[in-house]
Amino acid sequence: MMKRIYADHAATTPLLPEALEAMMPFLKENFGNPSSLHGWSKPTRRALADARASIAACINAEPEEIFFTSGGTEADNWVIKGSSGGLMVSAYEHHAVLNAAASEARKGRGVVYVRPNMKGFVEDGKIAKAWKNGIGLVSVMTANNEIGTRNNIANLARYAHKKGALFHTDAVQAVGHVPVDVRAWDVDFLSASAHKFNGPKGIGFLFIRKGVRLAPLLDGGQQEGGIRAGTENVASIVGMATALKFNCERMEENAAHLDTLALRLRDGIGHVFPNAIYFGNGGIGQLPGFVSVSFPGHSSEGLLHMLDLKSIAVSAGAACDSKNTHVSHVLKAINVKKDIASSTIRITFGPENTPNDVDEILIALTAILKWGQKEKDPLS
Ligand code: PLP
Repeated sequence: MMKRIYADHAATTPLLPEALEAMMPFLKENFGNPSSLHGWSKPTRRALADARASIAACINAEPEEIFFTSGGTEADNWVIKGSSGGLMVSAYEHHAVLNAAASEARKGRGVVYVRPNMKGFVEDGKIAKAWKNGIGLVSVMTANNEIGTRNNIANLARYAHKKGALFHTDAVQAVGHVPVDVRAWDVDFLSASAHKFNGPKGIGFLFIRKGVRLAPLLDGGQQEGGIRAGTENVASIVGMATALKFNCERMEENAAHLDTLALRLRDGIGHVFPNAIYFGNGGIGQLPGFVSVSFPGHSSEGLLHMLDLKSIAVSAGAACDSKNTHVSHVLKAINVKKDIASSTIRITFGPENTPNDVDEILIALTAILKWGQKEKDPLS
């Protein structure tokens, strides 16, 4: 049987075995409601407190600043819809931010869009140029999910604060992979999602800086400080905290390994397809193990399916976009021409990938690209 290679870690990651193991008691014997007044609540209440403290430590927050959510989409929606005043969002945000902002615009709230530069970074100069009176919240992602570029969040938050606005960053692609420090960056809100760092799906968190007000997301009981009611998903929260701690403790070695894989892939592609165009690999940096590359003359969807037939999983643009065939809004925002954008695939490695996986991808790509060229060129 052909070995299956998973190289789509920006879409989702495998569950860490240690996280699953930590979750099991809370799916079995420790089922007590953390809000109950009897003894069954003790292990679950303690587990929630430990998870909150452990997650907070990974991003330099206080435990009471961590609010559990059902994932990144919920955290993003909560901030965008629960904040007040005008909104400023970057044009290449994830749809969880963009569509939440669009929904607010339909209700009459002002929304200003800021374009990233052509290298894929959001600059404070562009924010300054687009500024409008009354903006209450600026939202710019820590790292982009299609091209992997990382923004200088401290700089952008400083500008928003200077203008009297609050600052949110969607750090879904960054948390657990690169250092995230809410104090050094001085952000007011930060979203994260467990399934992007080897935790379970359907769980995430929102950091809300102490003293900053955000409208409640769900009314009900007193869970999560009374602003996000509902009995907590204890097992998943424990899995998330375990995965995050594990990855934060190995961040440097993981990043070095992933960068080596990405470099090996780029080197190999250079030999086979010297016309390949890369996105995001400049400026202040790209997420480790992230390769966004266009093979002009080849359709990204075709490449994705041919690789899939060879048991290799990559992505054409964002996975959340897989039902839409329109050109990626991210590549459009950084001014990439339509034909180049529609030849772009995203290959994202994880700690379990090996140099041999890269070589297998290169062998498959070589076969597909060569075959594709012959198909296109009747003289060859
Ligand atoms: N924000 C970014 C940058 C993402 O990459 C994703 C997922 O792809 C999300 C938000 C949504 O997170 P979730 O899948 O947890 O709802």
